[in-house]
Amino acid sequence: MRHIKVGYEIVCIGDDSFHCPHCGKVYNDEKYCDRINRNKSGYTRVYCECRKLFDVVADSSGKLHGVLTLKQVMELETDIYNKYYE
Ligand SMILES: [Zn+2]
Repeated sequence: MRHIKVGYEIVCIGDDSFHCPHCGKVYNDEKYCDRINRNKSGYTRVYCECRKLFDVVADSSGKLHGVLTLKQVMELETDIYNKYYE
């Protein structure tokens, strides 16, 4: 998020921005916000340039966050489980 000083007020812009949880690529595009608004489940899926999927969710203040998909989280948990509990 960028902060721009306008007079005595600080205006925050870039609430539509989020980044890929895999490679960190920053997205700043209203179209994802529109997609989430149209989609009743409250998130949309992005296929990143790094060839991995991630979900974009909007929090209660309308800010977007790039997060791992449920499947990726489950895979991660399996990985961790295999590493530490075998
Ligand atoms: Zn990526």
